[in-house]
Amino acid sequence: MLNFLKPTYLVESIYDLSASELQDHGITTVLTDLDNTLLAWHNPDGTPELHEWLKQLHAAKIEVVVVSNNTWKRVGQAVAGLPVDYVAWSLKPLPRGIHQVLRKQKLNPAEVIMVGDQMLTDVWAAHSAGVRSVLVKPLVESDLWQTWLNRAIEKQVKKHFYGSATDLPWQKELVAADHSE
Ligand SMILES: [Mg+2]
Repeated sequence: MLNFLKPTYLVESIYDLSASELQDHGITTVLTDLDNTLLAWHNPDGTPELHEWLKQLHAAKIEVVVVSNNTWKRVGQAVAGLPVDYVAWSLKPLPRGIHQVLRKQKLNPAEVIMVGDQMLTDVWAAHSAGVRSVLVKPLVESDLWQTWLNRAIEKQVKKHFYGSATDLPWQKELVAADHSE
């Protein structure tokens, strides 16, 4: 039950995903949520860590594409200084935005991974599109009204999967969070 919401991997931060590890998993393209996954609202230019991570992936020819539910204007402005492509208005948890990227870049779902901080949008959308998902810790705790209901539901889902809403078995790399399935 609810397995469509269960992330394939639990990793603390998107910056923990090293190029060599992604290559080991056959991943050529990293799809990522924008807000609270790639960038924090209070640090729109990104941290040195983010820029270093993007540089490392670029050198390994791994592409990064932002898949966001936000507007084209907002996402375009947010990623203007970053070497990433993007899809806005993606309607996660629907697979639409991810499908657009797969089609446009002629990618096989197996060579793609979707990273995000919300189970009800990012993880669900990944699985709807048939790609593996990585749940990360939000970069900052958000109190946006748009997300409070999702967060409340997510709390219950986390308890269901992990027995706790706060103490999840976070990893620093792509190892299956749960070997029992
Ligand atoms: Mg987010």
